Amino acid sequence: MRRPFYLYNTATRKKELFEPVNDPVGMYCCGPTVYNYAHIGNLRTYIFEDVLKRALVASGYHVKHVVNITDVGHLTSDADTGEDKMEKGAAREGKSVWEISEFFTRKFLENLQALNILKPDVMPRATDHIKDMIELVSELERRGFTYRTSDGIYFDTTRFPSYCDFAGLDPSSLKAGERVEMGEKRSVTDFALWKFSPSDVKRQMEWDSPWGIGFPGWHIECSAMSLALLSQPIDIHCGGVDHIRVHHTNEIAQTEAATGKKFVRFWAHGEFLVVEKGKMAKSGGNFITLDTLAGEGIPPLAYRMFCFTAHYRSPLAFGWEGIRAAANSLENLRKAVPAQDKEATFDEKQVVALLEEFYTHVCDDLNMPRAVASLWDLLHNSSVEAALKRECVRRADFVLGLDLLNVPEHHVEIVTDADGVKIKLDAETQLPDTVRSTLLSLLQKRRNARARKDFGTADRIRDGFAGLGIVVKDLPDGTTECRIPSAVVSDPDKTASLHDI
Ligand SMILES: [Zn+2]
Repeated sequence: MRRPFYLYNTATRKKELFEPVNDPVGMYCCGPTVYNYAHIGNLRTYIFEDVLKRALVASGYHVKHVVNITDVGHLTSDADTGEDKMEKGAAREGKSVWEISEFFTRKFLENLQALNILKPDVMPRATDHIKDMIELVSELERRGFTYRTSDGIYFDTTRFPSYCDFAGLDPSSLKAGERVEMGEKRSVTDFALWKFSPSDVKRQMEWDSPWGIGFPGWHIECSAMSLALLSQPIDIHCGGVDHIRVHHTNEIAQTEAATGKKFVRFWAHGEFLVVEKGKMAKSGGNFITLDTLAGEGIPPLAYRMFCFTAHYRSPLAFGWEGIRAAANSLENLRKAVPAQDKEATFDEKQVVALLEEFYTHVCDDLNMPRAVASLWDLLHNSSVEAALKRECVRRADFVLGLDLLNVPEHHVEIVTDADGVKIKLDAETQLPDTVRSTLLSLLQKRRNARARKDFGTADRIRDGFAGLGIVVKDLPDGTTECRIPSAVVSDPDKTASLHDI
């Protein structure tokens, strides 16, 4: 049985009953440009998309979820000016573009895993679909939607009269103004489909095409990959709200111009994570990653919990107090789940009835703050038996993805060193002897350094720990507390880097 699901559609600016045309439901989400680490603002969008997918599955749909990897062609400005982000990233790190792409794709996948984001069904790389992009641009050329300048092939937006509709753009404001870099573009909204390699620069990524050697424009990549992997019209296309005005507007124009058919049924957009100085961005000083959070003792799933404190279409203000409160409430939620009793039985009808309210909120355009509140109400309800509560949490957690039944074990050990100082090792997993002795010797080294006022060494050790997510605190009673996440033991790279501290 399928549950009715309501989703806000950016295209109609209304909450609508979700009625897919495809089975499985086709869901395309714009993926990362792999030239840097993902910050937690980027990750908020992927969490929203994951919850949307989980909610659809819980509502009885099969979903084919596609997230692309942009490994070429995304320029530093969305308006097709500036340098290629990938080539620029490679130059910054002194590596090849392919190495950069490999490295940051792996980091991105690690982030998804740490946040319990279900692995997308397909993760196409733009560089594996160059042929599809060239074919799409050729079709646009055949249909008369393109023109050539000295630096590339452009889409002529005046040939697509509904261009401004999707984002509600004011056509009169789009005339070339003094401050807009037009180059040889005919209209300010025109955009590159194919860029020629500059004659004076040797690019690492370039391909031959009917128009000359070069590389695809960023927008054409998503159109080509989504058409190659999903049936048109695509049921849901997601991304951040920053994609509405340019990237998604351009995707719609070029795809509908090339195919003569509707591109997407539902457009769903996640709002920004905001910090004091505005939205979180890769440029500027407010760049926070999951590793930054780990350095402050905040596990990735606490960030997932934090995202549920606001509706996905509302901006969410990031603050340390708020994220710590979310970490505590996640811990409290896990503690409130009754322990497993293998003998206990429960009535299926009762489980369904008790979860009714939870699902109603989830299916109401993902109202996660209210869904989480209704789960709390259920846990606080003293008339509900323990086994029923546990089963309800297990099912609700399929949508939430908070690992509510897998309470991390804590292995706590107090060691007294040769000077009589107590060291409390609090690990999420059993520490192998080698790791345990490395940690103790580093803690001893840090204490010796502090005793002789060598704060440089002491800070270096503390920062080395923080980089691995290990939190060291000096408690008021003189005990040194050291909290070790399980990743330090399970990830051989992290275990090895303990020796570099
Ligand atoms: Zn895209």
